[in-house]
Amino acid sequence: MNKATRKAVIAGNWKMNKTPAEATALINDIKATIADKKTDGCDIIVGVPFVDLAAAVEAVKDSAIKVAAQNVHWAEKGAFTGEISAEMLKAVGVEYVIIGHSERRQYFGETNETVNQRVKAALAAGLKVILCVGELKDERLLGITEEIVAMQTKVALNEISAEDMKNIIIAYEPVWAIGTGLTATPAQAEEVCAAIRKVIAALYDCTLAEATTIQYGGSMNAGNAAELLSMKNIDGGLIGGASLKAPDFATIIEAAQA
Ligand code: PEP
Repeated sequence: MNKATRKAVIAGNWKMNKTPAEATALINDIKATIADKKTDGCDIIVGVPFVDLAAAVEAVKDSAIKVAAQNVHWAEKGAFTGEISAEMLKAVGVEYVIIGHSERRQYFGETNETVNQRVKAALAAGLKVILCVGELKDERLLGITEEIVAMQTKVALNEISAEDMKNIIIAYEPVWAIGTGLTATPAQAEEVCAAIRKVIAALYDCTLAEATTIQYGGSMNAGNAAELLSMKNIDGGLIGGASLKAPDFATIIEAAQA
C-alpha cells in the first residue's frame, strides 16, 4: 500500500465554536458547497463540540460527512464531573474522536499516558481515533522534533493491537503551526510524517505502516492544502480555522481528490 491506495482524510476541528443551530447551518453550507464536486477521493469528518454532536449527526445523515468528538474520557462511567465517555459518544452516533490535541495537552494537562488511556477506551467502544502528536517550537529549535513525536506516538499506542491500528489515524500537528498562521513547509511536514510511519513500522510492521493514514495539521488552508497534500506521506489534513468556512473547507476537500 502507498499514498495512491491510502484514502485521504480531511477532518475539521471546530474547537470551541458554534452552537447546535450554527453547527447545523455550517454542515448544510459544507454539503451545499461540495454538492456538485468530486469528493469520493477522501473521507470527510467534522469535529464538533460535545453539545453539537447530536445536531451534527442529524445534519450529516444524507451525506458522506462523518462526525468526530474532540475528546473522550477513559473511564466507562463514574465520578468524573464534566467528562464524556466513549459509550456516550457511540450512543449519539459519533464515529470518530480526536485525542491528544495539543490544546488539550497545553491547557488541560493531557499527558502521553492519559492519551493512551483515552485511545484504549475509544477503541474498546468501537470509535475510530484521530491521534494528535506534534512538537513545540522550542523542541523543533533544539532539533528533537522526531524524538518527541516518536515518543508521543509510542506511548499513545502502548498496548494497541495491530488490528486496532486499522481504526487509528495519526495527525502530525506541530504545535507552533496551530492557529498561528505559520504552516510547516511541505518538506518539513513530509519529513515528520515519514518519520512517524517509520515508528509505526518499528512498532508493528511495514505493511501496517504503509496502510496507516497520517494527516498534517497546522494552519492548513485553501491556499496551501494542495501542496501539503501532494507529499508522499501526507494523507490528509486536520484543519482548525479554515474548517469553519464552508468554501475554504470545500477547497481543501477538492485538493485531496488528486
Ligand atoms: C487544529 O486545531 O488541529 C488546527 C490544525 O488548527 P489550525 O488549522 O487553525 O491551525
